[in-house]
Amino acid sequence: MDKKEKLGILKEKMQKDMSLPLRKDANNLVFGEGNPETEILFIGEGPGYWEDQKAKPFVGNSGTLLSKLLQTIKVNREDVFITNVVFFRPPDNRDPLPEEINAFKVYLDEIINIIDPKIIVTLGRFSMGKFIPNSFISSVHGKLFNIKWNDKDKVVIPMYHPAAALRNGNVMNMIKNDFFKIPEVLKEIKSHITADQMTLV
Ligand code: URA
Repeated sequence: MDKKEKLGILKEKMQKDMSLPLRKDANNLVFGEGNPETEILFIGEGPGYWEDQKAKPFVGNSGTLLSKLLQTIKVNREDVFITNVVFFRPPDNRDPLPEEINAFKVYLDEIINIIDPKIIVTLGRFSMGKFIPNSFISSVHGKLFNIKWNDKDKVVIPMYHPAAALRNGNVMNMIKNDFFKIPEVLKEIKSHITADQMTLV
């Protein structure tokens, strides 16, 4: 079974999981979208008004900025995968509660397992907290964190949430700079893979 099929089955399972919080006030499950074969996974916070309407992640103002930031590093939005820590819209766009994030954790973990990306970009403090707990986004944004996920090496790059950049010009400059880390890390990872392959020959 390929990654796309596995994600499809997982999405169906979530649709049927009546134990999930936030469902009753939401219009749609926002599972995530993009290329399952990607090397880069983006994890945001949770659906807002437009995401809830369209059942797609990052399609409002934050999404427009995310697409523009991807363009600056010459990456097509369709070539990455984008998801969130909670998959139904919290009422009035309030912050997701720890128990809500925890209830969706098994599903997000499975998305990471299936996609098996090389780079995980966290957008905002809630997805940052999943990998780098007890830290402040102001001190860790744009830094590289090497983690093991299921015994596999991954690089986590925490970034500010695009909504914060839309509110504050300084944050906008920081997120723009941080985005340029993505192609650098990808290049570095690819050069290692090529070196490993060459030593195998
Ligand atoms: N903000 C998020 O964190 N996620 C979305 O999908 C949209 C806005």
